Amino acid sequence: MSRSALVTGASKGIGLGIATRLATLGYGLTITARDSEKLEVVAEGLRSAGSPDVAVVAGDMADEEFATELVAAHGDRFGSMRALILNAGVGTSGSVADYPMRRFDKTVAVNLRTPFALLQASLPLLRTAAGADRDGGAKVIALSSLTGVYSESGLAVYGATKAALISIVEALNAEESGNGVCATAIAPGYVDTDMAAWIHDQITPDTMIKVDDIVELVDGLLRLSARAVVPKVVMTRAGTDGYRA
Ligand code: NAP
Repeated sequence: MSRSALVTGASKGIGLGIATRLATLGYGLTITARDSEKLEVVAEGLRSAGSPDVAVVAGDMADEEFATELVAAHGDRFGSMRALILNAGVGTSGSVADYPMRRFDKTVAVNLRTPFALLQASLPLLRTAAGADRDGGAKVIALSSLTGVYSESGLAVYGATKAALISIVEALNAEESGNGVCATAIAPGYVDTDMAAWIHDQITPDTMIKVDDIVELVDGLLRLSARAVVPKVVMTRAGTDGYRA
């Protein structure tokens, strides 16, 4: 059975970086985001980078039903899933005092509800991959955030969704790691992508974590044997006290 991965938010930023590395490692890939045209261009690049097969499934992570469709497409194509990369997310800000509930619902749907539904739907495929490779197992990587570990003013809801991801990852490890499905939540400070552009006037891109730093970490985590569990990795920006993104 060849190795395959499903990467959400693969059209740019961290997700694109991870998908590209997985392609060079020879993974079959299902990639997703909303913009299907952009995904088709990315898919071509991933094939050139070494992926034997790339499936494009465009959709909105705000729609929980999409999780079922996405995993079904991956299962039909690849039959198992060695890695699930829960990367897509929306960065929203607003104070507790006046955060609009519509924005709350959207942030929770994209960052937490659909990723959970995706994880749930993917478990049979992850277990199949873990059963076929007892040494390496299967892996789940979730992009959390430093704000999910240390709260920040203006990021209550975003941070809450990211904290919840860490909690789900830990519970998943308790339930599934004995059978080879291990998960890690990565909690970085600001990473130099479009998502962090809004704060360039205060934090310049050249002081942000590089996408490649996250990619190296993911690569290393995927190489670990099924005997080792790394529940959470906190990655902070050099030159900070490590408590602020
Ligand atoms: P990015 O450059 O903005 O990329 C986000 C990706 O997610 C894109 O592929 C985007 O594609 C997709 N996406 C966004 N909303 C979506 C939706 N509703 N449905 C489906 N796909 C959607 O962001 P990034 O910086 O790479 O962030 C990746 C992850 O890292 C996120 O979970 C983020 O919270 C986390 N993170 C980022 C930072 C940072 O400073 N950049 C720090 C800590 C954690 P479409 O727009 O085409 O849908």
